[in-house]
Amino acid sequence: MAQTLKTPIAGLHHVTAISGPAQENLDFYTRVMQTRLIKQTVNFDAPEMYHLYYGAEDARPGSVLTFFNREERGQGQAGVGAALSFAYAVRPEALAEWQAQLGGEISERFGADVLSLRDPHGQAFELVADDSAGPWGEFHSVTLWVGDPEPTAEILKDVFGYAFAGEAREPGGRRLRYVLPGDAQGRVVDLWQADVAVRARPGPGTIHHVAFRARDEAHQSALRNALLDRGEKVTEVKDRQYFKAIYFREPGGVLFEIATDGPGFDVDEPMAQLGASLKLPPQYEPRRAEIEASLPPLVSESA
Ligand code: ZN
Repeated sequence: MAQTLKTPIAGLHHVTAISGPAQENLDFYTRVMQTRLIKQTVNFDAPEMYHLYYGAEDARPGSVLTFFNREERGQGQAGVGAALSFAYAVRPEALAEWQAQLGGEISERFGADVLSLRDPHGQAFELVADDSAGPWGEFHSVTLWVGDPEPTAEILKDVFGYAFAGEAREPGGRRLRYVLPGDAQGRVVDLWQADVAVRARPGPGTIHHVAFRARDEAHQSALRNALLDRGEKVTEVKDRQYFKAIYFREPGGVLFEIATDGPGFDVDEPMAQLGASLKLPPQYEPRRAEIEASLPPLVSESA
């Protein structure tokens, strides 16, 4: 029997994508997009690869964009079973400036102007004009590409607390919008159903997973139990150094994570120095020399 949780999820926590060469990824998101490098670490499951984190100046959950940085350029393929894009909230008056700098097309979506862009490795992302946009770097939304929206929508509504907010026909498919109650940023999830379905293939230019934000560990545990009750295959709680995380593949095929705010990105370096040096979790610290030698050198803006 489906269980409805009383406490809705607290919005987006982070989005993790796959990039090509790390230096190009770093230059784009810090110099061009003006987000802050908030953590330099490695993929905890594959430490020969960088895992770079960008976010708002204060590294708040809901602004965190991370990349598994591959050095190869082979493209992944966006498609059914993966998130298609992420979107930043921007003040409406800033949108034209961004367009002058970055190009891209502006279209209207549910009454808001949206500038559609791609990063240097092909990742689709958007800037959404929003009067309530807060500090730069906060996400407005993510778009998930699904074959059949209904099973994904059920998780969003019945477990996470989203409500259906509208449907729009767009070139190439239809978009269904789900929104959390309240007025915080990052409370929007769009489901995209394309007229011509393509299977997602992971690689540079694709999103690996979308992480939602639990209010605390008790909330995360309640969400985990609710998902298990529905027959979802949820992992145990994993220690990701900066947060606690659980993962499951939602019925539409998209890898979802539910992460806690704590302990936070300043657990291993002071807030003022976030991202300044390579941080390794304790299990890799003994291998630091070997890991550093395997990673390409990185020049960050502050260096
Ligand atoms: Zn994650």
